[in-house]
Amino acid sequence: MPTADMRSGSRSKHDVGTMKFTCTKCGWELFAEEPMRCPRCKDTGSWDYEKPRWVKTLERMRGPTDRGVGDTAQRLAARFGGERVKAFAERIGIPCGCADRQDAWNSLWPY
Ligand SMILES: [Zn+2]
Repeated sequence: MPTADMRSGSRSKHDVGTMKFTCTKCGWELFAEEPMRCPRCKDTGSWDYEKPRWVKTLERMRGPTDRGVGDTAQRLAARFGGERVKAFAERIGIPCGCADRQDAWNSLWPY
């Protein structure tokens, strides 16, 4: 559940950000960092969610060998260098371009 320390400005820079989840069974809407048990119908794992805008941007730059969004971010970082990617990441709103997010992002947004 969201907590008080998630206010903008005090969040960890590693956070992917809060996403809007909608229960596919009952339509319950939830803002969270990851899905949980639906508080209304008690279903789990049946959430639709809106991907953050930067995820959609990265998906459009997907390469043939990328397994997920994390690979795309990592590939761009390798090609252009960390500093340029960092600036780019800030421009399109990526919370953090750190390499240790690669696997996490791949599992969150696989191709
Ligand atoms: Zn529900």
